[in-house]
Amino acid sequence: MSQEIPTVDVLIVGAGCAGLFLLDSLVRKGISALLIESTALGYGQTTSSQGILHAGVKYSLGGLAGDDATEAAAAASLWSKMLSGDGTDLRTVRKLADHCYLWRTAGLAGVAGMLGAKVALRTRPEPVSNDARPVWLKDVGGEVLTLAETVIDPRSLLQVLAKRHAGCIALGNVRRIVGENGLQRIEIVGGRLVSVFARQLILTAGAGNEALCKSAGIACEMQRRPLRQAMIRGPLEMVFGHCIDGAKTRVTITSDRISSDEVVWHIGGQIAEDGPRMTLENFRTHAIAELRSAIPKLNLQGCSFASYDVDRSEPRTGDGRRPPRAFTRTTGGVTIVWPIKLVLAPVIAAEIAASIAASEYPTAHWPSDVPAPEFAQRPWEVATLSWDAIS
Ligand SMILES: Cc1cc2nc3c(=O)[nH]c(=O)nc-3n(C[C@H](O)[C@H](O)[C@H](O)COP(=O)(O)OP(=O)(O)OC[C@H]3O[C@@H](n4cnc5c(N)ncnc54)[C@H](O)[C@@H]3O)c2cc1C
Repeated sequence: MSQEIPTVDVLIVGAGCAGLFLLDSLVRKGISALLIESTALGYGQTTSSQGILHAGVKYSLGGLAGDDATEAAAAASLWSKMLSGDGTDLRTVRKLADHCYLWRTAGLAGVAGMLGAKVALRTRPEPVSNDARPVWLKDVGGEVLTLAETVIDPRSLLQVLAKRHAGCIALGNVRRIVGENGLQRIEIVGGRLVSVFARQLILTAGAGNEALCKSAGIACEMQRRPLRQAMIRGPLEMVFGHCIDGAKTRVTITSDRISSDEVVWHIGGQIAEDGPRMTLENFRTHAIAELRSAIPKLNLQGCSFASYDVDRSEPRTGDGRRPPRAFTRTTGGVTIVWPIKLVLAPVIAAEIAASIAASEYPTAHWPSDVPAPEFAQRPWEVATLSWDAIS
């Protein structure tokens, strides 16, 4: 026998950045909403995110600024409001950097890419004189720019949002989804069996959306784009930036301090896209060579290397490339969401909240004996990782 809990307007499935922003937007609008998570808060993509609040630069390299660059630029301005406490109050989210560097490797392709970035952007990158560059960028041959791209700690974001709505978030597995009398009935195993009736079921489960759609009997065209991210830990400086070559980002580096004498670099960009096709050994050699080429003054003495694989989960594009914009689609009482980027999650959440009719049900909370989820580990905290010393 399952325990029925009072009917809600919305049940959200999946507590990454998309689910948590949506819960916050709905609750602030007075909509009764609950969120269920099967593993850990942010498990999968959000905990792997580099936390860059892209302002559209990456999408406008080569001079091609499309809808995605405009969408990202608008989202970045919403973030700047939230980080100053306007709307969803994110003042306590840990900011790691308030700008990123953009620099090029030598050669004509690099120059063309930089020009494209300058022409296309609303917020223009600012040149950095040689004297004003950080030490690690001192011997870079080409132009160095700063970008108004804030970098946040994604886990701190999840913590701030989850703490605000703790009673509305539970750990459990969706067992069945059935349409019944104009509502969705969702059976959840969260320690014991609980049935939730909701006017609207919203799936923000990243890669999990595919199986959930199948349970709900609705179509779902999803693609996974595999990435292999590199990580280096040791006595490093905090580095935030993109080294570009033409329209490609060779490496994107973000950093976090993990102890008083150790910093970890989290490295994506083109190397992460190419990585899944390589052996682990070849990837390590390639990633370190790319870094040495991007940062001529690189000193990796006392450092270790590790990598991990993660998929981006997105709507299918047909050609397997990055989708142009955030995705949401409603079929009957079920909505599928893929924000595509962390930076777009609050925008899509606000749009969905605006589309939900005024509340029919009182504020809801999970029963107190249903367990709460933990926070997912950041990639460099995973105990099973193998860190190899860099010689
Ligand atoms: C390596 C990497 C770096 C990135 N860097 C950036 C960046 O710098 N800036 C940026 O804007 N974007 C970045 N992104 C993209 C961004 O991280 C994602 O678009 C975003 O985190 C997706 O969030 P989500 O909530 O949709 O999905 P996810 O973060 O994948 O969360 C889905 C949640 O649903 C849960 N779940 C799954 N199945 C079920 C189920 N059946 N029942 C209940 N719960 C379920 C999962 O456990 C998880 O907690 C990056 C992505 C990757 C992979």
